[in-house]
Amino acid sequence: MSCDFLAQALPGVQKLSPYVPGKPVDELARELGMAPASIVKLASNENPLGPSAKALDAIRAELAELTRYPDGNAFDLKQALSERFGVAATGITLGNGSNDILELVARAYLAPGYNAVFSEHAFAVYPLVTLAIGAEGRSVPAKDYGHDLEAMLAAIDADTRVVFVANPNNPTGTWFDSEALARFLARVPEHVLVVLDEAYIEYAEGDKLPDGLAFLAQYPNLIVSRTFSKAYGLAALRVGYAFSSPTVADVLNRVRQPFNVNSLAQAAACAALADSDYLARSRALNDAGMAQLEAGFRDLDLKWIPSRGNFIAVDLGREAAPINQGLLQEGVIVRPVAGYGMPTFLRVSIGTEAENARFLAALSKVLGRG
Ligand SMILES: *Cc1c(COP(=O)(O)O)cnc(C)c1O
Repeated sequence: MSCDFLAQALPGVQKLSPYVPGKPVDELARELGMAPASIVKLASNENPLGPSAKALDAIRAELAELTRYPDGNAFDLKQALSERFGVAATGITLGNGSNDILELVARAYLAPGYNAVFSEHAFAVYPLVTLAIGAEGRSVPAKDYGHDLEAMLAAIDADTRVVFVANPNNPTGTWFDSEALARFLARVPEHVLVVLDEAYIEYAEGDKLPDGLAFLAQYPNLIVSRTFSKAYGLAALRVGYAFSSPTVADVLNRVRQPFNVNSLAQAAACAALADSDYLARSRALNDAGMAQLEAGFRDLDLKWIPSRGNFIAVDLGREAAPINQGLLQEGVIVRPVAGYGMPTFLRVSIGTEAENARFLAALSKVLGRG
């Protein structure tokens, strides 16, 4: 008898299902015998602009240094983030994507016997990092697809170490305002860390979404995580960052792999951070594309969840899986979200005007309305 290495895995790990990413363009192109360029992928909330030219220049300038290890403390990037956001560099933790930040929090603060609280329909990585470490994940029923912050507070107990909140949330696009965040933070027990995941904040800054950073000084249990993957257009490079009290940052940096953000990523992130023109174009393209998709859904008599991210969840009013298959046949990749408890929805990332139009035409055809 050989050993059963599934049974040998930690109980929490046995319960995990692997994260399902968006289908890669090349994979669908192979399956359909189509040119990759003719495929439209609106499945992973990627920036349709392509990377900032300034980020690309910074990467090229860094290439000759590839034999060296990156700066493990990422001095330049932390300095740039510190200046831009007015948070001391000692309160910054960098991640290999902000997914890495979530994992650092779990590794430093969760263990069997402890629990983490998050919302139903929330980002899949919260339960993933929680269960992987052997802690209990408490999924709190959502309210109108969004976080029910009152119910999340009620789910916290003496063994809770972390609450994950996404604002806006992925895949629903739902958000809460500054007053709601203030009320929530005021009532979270002191011993519980709040991870405020602001992966999409740049799309709705200012009037639309609360700025988690405004609460940092008052709440030493607050961690605000952000990313270069979305509005900054650098998803492949994997750079995320978190702002917190210096004490929490010190703890997270103890469990961090010393070279978790590579040198090309550090250089590109610095350049992207300084490229305010790119960020403005990202946001403008997103606003226009969001309006375009909403208008298209209205024409097709479909309901959607209003979103403040770079994606929108549309309700097909029936099982979405066959419609998704039909879209794939048309060369259009979007994201089914049955795994998030939303079997009648598809999540569609905002693309260029032409990509959005391709998607809407394909959807109309597959729904038999074309
Ligand atoms: C995309 C996303 C992230 C960012 O992940 P990275 O690892 O930084 O690419 C984080 N949180 C949520 C909710 C997201 O949707």
